[in-house]
Amino acid sequence: MEKILIVDDSVLQATMLKSILDDDYEITLAHTAEEGLRLADTEKYSLILLDVIMPDMDGFTLLKKLQEEIITQSVPVILITSLSDVQSEQRGFVLGAVDYITKPFHPLTVKARVNTHVKLYNYRKQVEYQSNTDQLTGVANRRQHDNYSVMKWKEAARLQIPFSICMFDIDRFKAYNDKFGHPAGDKVIAGVAKTVSTHLRRSTDFFARYGGEEFVAFLIGDSMEKAFEHLKKIRMEVEKLQIPHDPSVSQWVTISIGGVTVIPSVEKTYDYYLKVADAMLYDAKESGRNQVVWMDENLKQVKEK
Ligand code: GH3
Ligand code: MG
Ligand code: MG
Repeated sequence: MEKILIVDDSVLQATMLKSILDDDYEITLAHTAEEGLRLADTEKYSLILLDVIMPDMDGFTLLKKLQEEIITQSVPVILITSLSDVQSEQRGFVLGAVDYITKPFHPLTVKARVNTHVKLYNYRKQVEYQSNTDQLTGVANRRQHDNYSVMKWKEAARLQIPFSICMFDIDRFKAYNDKFGHPAGDKVIAGVAKTVSTHLRRSTDFFARYGGEEFVAFLIGDSMEKAFEHLKKIRMEVEKLQIPHDPSVSQWVTISIGGVTVIPSVEKTYDYYLKVADAMLYDAKESGRNQVVWMDENLKQVKEK
């Protein structure tokens, strides 16, 4: 069941709202704005019903705070109040409420409006997910990479923590397609993505399909040595899948990886180092494929083979 948070200082009114929605949703009650804020930060709600007039922090202030935080800003908020004046209503919408219900209300009206906004919220989440996910592999797509990488790069620059960027490319993949056909090739791309992503599961890891048979990843916080070792392991895990390749080029399907580890600075962009990683990938291909080539902060190259 989907979760709804009701924030209302009046126990009577909160209980009444709860009883209206109880059959269709899992309801949590908060009797102060502070408690509401804390709950909204820790639980995943599909909607928040918010009373405007409360002692201490009022509903408008709480709404503003919810809109400012990344985790809560997309959750729809419906304001419930006896303030029927137009100014209050407008203020609520300006602050980001999706709807405004004035007291006294009819239970069916509340139910209908809640249902509509939960439906819209789920639809929006689904569209967002689809536009950020690669259909074939289910991992993040390039669009998500482009947005997320810049954000994380800035964050790491502020905190001055090491940032590793790597590019992956399946070796001699044109030959694979030529030998086994495009649909078989698609299965290999999905299989490789699955294996790599199971080894990049930390909240500080990110992995995406960059296009075709190319992938991109970044790891935040690891030293160069650690990142290099980890990517070597990932390369080996793909080889261990033992997917037969066209025998005239290779026994198994393998990948080459190019990477770089730096402490992000404001002078040089993420894209600059992505190009460095790509250059390392090129070197890995030139050096015979199925290997990892890395570059450290001092432009010193480390090769696996
Ligand atoms: P290298 O080891 O140098 O990377 O050789 P390669 O043959 O993999 O490199 P190239 O870039 O010349 O070819 C990439 C091939 O990947 C071309 C295309 O047939 C295949 N490919 C790209 N995208 C897809 C896809 O979505 N599905 C399938 N099945 N194949 C793809
Ligand atoms: Mg390629
Ligand atoms: Mg390739």
